[in-house]
Amino acid sequence: MIVIMQPGATDDQIALVEEKLKKLGFGVHRSDGEEQTILGAIGTTSKEIDPRVIEILPGVSEAHRVRRPFRLVDRVCRPSGTVVDVAGVRIGGDELVVIAGPCAVESREQINRAADAVHSCGARILRGGAFKPRSSPYAFQGLEETGLKYLREAADAIGIPCVSEVVRASDVELVGKYADMFQVGARNMQNFSLLKALGNSAKPVLLKRGFAATLQELLLAAEYILAAGNPRVVLCERGVRTFEPWTRNTLDLSAVPVLRKQTHLPIIVDPSHATGLREYVTPMARAAIAAGADGVMVEVHDDPDSALCDGAQSLDPEGFSSLMADLKIIAPSVRKRLSDPARNVRPKLAKTIFSKAAIIGIGLIGGSLALALKEVGAIKQVVGVDKDELLNSIKVAGVVDQVYSTNEIEQALAGADLVILAMPVGEIGKTLATIGPHLSQGALVSDVGSTKEEICRAAHVLGKAVDFIGGHPMAGSERRGVNFSDPTLFHDAVWVICPNENVSEPQVNRFIQVIESIGAQPLKIDSKRHDQLVATVSHVPHLIAAALSNMVGRLGEEDELAPRLAAGGFRDVTRTASSSYGIWRDTLITNRELIELSLNDFRAALDRIESALGAEESLKEELTEAARYRLGIPRDLPGLFRPEYELIVRIIDEPGALAAVTTALARENINIRDIQVLKVRQDEDGVLRLAFNNEVETNRAAQVLRHSGHDVRLRSDNTE
Ligand code: PEP
Ligand code: MN
Repeated sequence: MIVIMQPGATDDQIALVEEKLKKLGFGVHRSDGEEQTILGAIGTTSKEIDPRVIEILPGVSEAHRVRRPFRLVDRVCRPSGTVVDVAGVRIGGDELVVIAGPCAVESREQINRAADAVHSCGARILRGGAFKPRSSPYAFQGLEETGLKYLREAADAIGIPCVSEVVRASDVELVGKYADMFQVGARNMQNFSLLKALGNSAKPVLLKRGFAATLQELLLAAEYILAAGNPRVVLCERGVRTFEPWTRNTLDLSAVPVLRKQTHLPIIVDPSHATGLREYVTPMARAAIAAGADGVMVEVHDDPDSALCDGAQSLDPEGFSSLMADLKIIAPSVRKRLSDPARNVRPKLAKTIFSKAAIIGIGLIGGSLALALKEVGAIKQVVGVDKDELLNSIKVAGVVDQVYSTNEIEQALAGADLVILAMPVGEIGKTLATIGPHLSQGALVSDVGSTKEEICRAAHVLGKAVDFIGGHPMAGSERRGVNFSDPTLFHDAVWVICPNENVSEPQVNRFIQVIESIGAQPLKIDSKRHDQLVATVSHVPHLIAAALSNMVGRLGEEDELAPRLAAGGFRDVTRTASSSYGIWRDTLITNRELIELSLNDFRAALDRIESALGAEESLKEELTEAARYRLGIPRDLPGLFRPEYELIVRIIDEPGALAAVTTALARENINIRDIQVLKVRQDEDGVLRLAFNNEVETNRAAQVLRHSGHDVRLRSDNTE
């Protein structure tokens, strides 16, 4: 504290102040100026001292706090900012979070309709009030517990978390039973017993600014919650009362950068209650994001004109969809992103399928699988096992609930009803033998190895009490390691399953449900047939690529012109030859016999082509047939895209040409599933291949792009 004495204050008066400060627990530093004396109170005291107790002493002119009254919410406590996790949705990270839904839950049908609408546009959290703190006692007060039930059901049906308001401390338990996040309304910002009760809860809190509260008062209210033990608070600016009658409140957007400077807590903006009128909501939401907010909360009603509460400020689904399209364009300019609604589409499962999964081997595949399982809620607990030296990086990556070292395998497997071996094929046999004694009765074991027959046979060591289903997700990435884990890695990928003979039908179906829940396409085939097919479509092509590479490489040693003439065609055919031996080693060794058979077939195919070389007609026949077959295969994309969902767009080689295409689509809220540049040569046009989620989106995209002057074709009528 700084105390400024009045000019002419007597020595006795100064001594009295010094004595008082010391009694309060401060050290005192005195500085005598020409006219005035200034006393600095140094150190901290356990209790907050009100400067006014000094200001009233005789001879004192002013007394000021130097330290701010809040501590835990202060930005200095966590300069990098806090991310608050709301049942898997992270507020405060690089993703903008949009919370949307009606002001109040009015009926089961109404909240379901609103939930579907906001969810399909990319809202990440559903809102809906069940306890409504209305200014008038005669206004609709909310459906209370029934409303909470409907809200929970609606949120579960679309698979996103929900937030609902709690108005008194005694309701914290009840609201917490249904909602994933508590909302404290503007009228309750300083309901301290409520704040303390929320401080004892483990669930996150959305704290709205009171309409006559300063930002410091808002931070002190948050401090109450943190001080009582709950660090998961998100602040919400929702407008303050001013003399302006043309809006319901005045949105104080400067609150966003000011709070950002003062606190590490995430900040969102509610433009609905701030403006009170639908037509102002979208512009102010755009401004909020531009000002740096971590997200917005917007009221959306499927039929706003018949809403029981706040209809005038509620957007209809169309208005909300257009708002989301705008935010998508603004997000990158503030280095944020808006989640892809397609990622939202997979509903969180209402029931868990397995209670504990142990994934042995947490690399790219194991880590991605763990993330995907946690995201959809297919499994209650997901633990990982790996070598000692990798445990730290796995912990940091945060992909599993708990991680164990290989010599703690017993603890990792205790109670696990699903065990996945996510390791190279060569290690699976050995691992099966070590885990055997620690598996629970009735556990289901699977793997992700790229050959199946030998592994399925080796799994017999597990005995009859354990079910083994060989697995092979046909997905991967050039990148390796847990840090590149991606929960969408398996979307649309074929996931081969080869159940051993003793596995019951219901158990197979359970596993199929897990695979489907993470967006992959299960395909049940016999292990031998799997190995034969992959020998032909994957392993032999790899060996051919290697052989061709070596042939040309060795030629290059004799004739230096060879590599200069080896152009695109050679590169395409030999692409897989560049992958590392380590990835292929085990696969090629375990599948050797079938590969040899398939190589024989290849020799025969080569002979056929060779003899056709001497006869024009047969050569034409061979090559035309090959072209026809090859053209029918979708391009090399993660997963199979249907050609009818793809567009080919010609773009001019000039700055911003690509942005023009993506912006035109973003403006219409059309999600680009995949994008590929097919040909870029200097001074020539480029060709883009765009993939979409479905036929409707594809047709809309074609229309939008044609409208903006682009040359667009459907991929299905294109010949590469
Ligand atoms: C609400 O969000 O439904 C609400 C009542 O808002 P506020 O507390 O900001 O008025
Ligand atoms: Mn409202």
